[in-house]
Amino acid sequence: MSKIKQRVLSGIRATGHLHLGNYFGAIKGMLALQEDANFETFYMVADAHAITTPYKVEEFRLSRLNVILDYLAVGLDPEKSVLFFQSAVPQHFELAFYLSTLISVAKMQHLPTFKDKVKQHPENVTMALLNYPVLMAADILLYKANQVPVGADQKPHIEVAREIARKCNNLYGTKFPLPNFFNLSGEYVPSLTGEGKMSKTVVGSYINLSDDLKTIEKKVAKIPTDSGKGEIRELEAESDQHQDIVYIDDSGQTSKGVKSLMSLIELFVGQEKRKEYEAEYKKDGLRYAVIKKNLAKLIYEELLPIQERRRELAKRTDYLANIIEDANQKARNVAEQTIAEVKEKFALSIVT
Ligand code: AMP
Repeated sequence: MSKIKQRVLSGIRATGHLHLGNYFGAIKGMLALQEDANFETFYMVADAHAITTPYKVEEFRLSRLNVILDYLAVGLDPEKSVLFFQSAVPQHFELAFYLSTLISVAKMQHLPTFKDKVKQHPENVTMALLNYPVLMAADILLYKANQVPVGADQKPHIEVAREIARKCNNLYGTKFPLPNFFNLSGEYVPSLTGEGKMSKTVVGSYINLSDDLKTIEKKVAKIPTDSGKGEIRELEAESDQHQDIVYIDDSGQTSKGVKSLMSLIELFVGQEKRKEYEAEYKKDGLRYAVIKKNLAKLIYEELLPIQERRRELAKRTDYLANIIEDANQKARNVAEQTIAEVKEKFALSIVT
């Protein structure tokens, strides 16, 4: 007898090209679960989430397709994963409305992700922005997903989805599984500026999966560094259990850029190399120019095969249209079933 597979749901907002933060934060996990026979994987282009922040219509048309191309180029396989568009499955929005009855406005206003967006776009604090985590809960629960491979920044949203699922099950007798946060690389990928996380919406913060060697070299060279020699302090981070590391050079300057550089070295070269460099920082001092050039080369080598596949795929427009239509339909089939169950539980079914 074949075992019932657990479901996986994830998505990436269609706001430009994918970057290293998306790659380590989300895609590595998405790929791992796709290859695990215990899971059935649904990966959407989160185009409705993308319009919760200001956008340019013509660029957005391209960005939506870019995500599908990037998904395929990194190795997501339409034979194994359902690669669909969120906006092609209207049940996401229907379920989001039903679920919005289960969570308070105050809870949404206090989420760190909401506060960050308010700071970034103070002129655009819309209902859609406030409702973002509810729509994300609907995305997940519509497919009754058990695992959600996303970056660490999304953890509070998974908590909201769990709270909504719990409430819905208790109040209405639905049987939503409580979704779990799934992440392979732990922390978020930091910004190249040294401040916060790598993000598409912060200029100078990211390396795109499509960047060429020269561009990567230039971006890595710009990571702000210090004199190369100093002390390293480990602080207890406020919000989490992990240790926070601070690099203070011999002139007393705290260097957040060095921290970003070390994180990237750990991701691309390994933890051993980071430890080695940290020992040199404390002893004889580091020469950043050579380290940065090597790092840029390693990043490019990891991205090159992805870029080659992407170029080939972009030419196959009929193939792309077919897999998208097929996937949208598969997603709708699951979604229709869940909505029918929810409407029945909420007493919203047609009376016959
Ligand atoms: P977004 O582009 O905001 O839709 O993010 C898509 C996915 O990438 C989500 O799972 C995010 O958590 C993840 N992600 C985005 N930026 C980062 C980052 N700097 N570090 C780790 N994960 C990230």
